[in-house]
Amino acid sequence: MFLVRGAGKILSPCCGKSMRVIGTRDRRSKERSGETKVYNLRRLSCSGCGRIPHELPDVLVPYKRYESACIERVLSKLLPMI
Ligand SMILES: [Zn+2]
Repeated sequence: MFLVRGAGKILSPCCGKSMRVIGTRDRRSKERSGETKVYNLRRLSCSGCGRIPHELPDVLVPYKRYESACIERVLSKLLPMI
């Protein structure tokens, strides 16, 4: 299980306001080796309008800037699943 968490504050793509964590969701990704990995993503709600944007890619674009190359590899596997 990989916990996918943004570093610092993530602003909503719709209003540019801070977002509230309203829960988590698991996303599965099949590795090339045949192994299935589970990524635990947060569900976020915009504090401006209450919309729930997609965790990916909107929420994780700012995240991607701050994190290691390892996380970028994880994201590159998750993005085709949207
Ligand atoms: Zn909003």
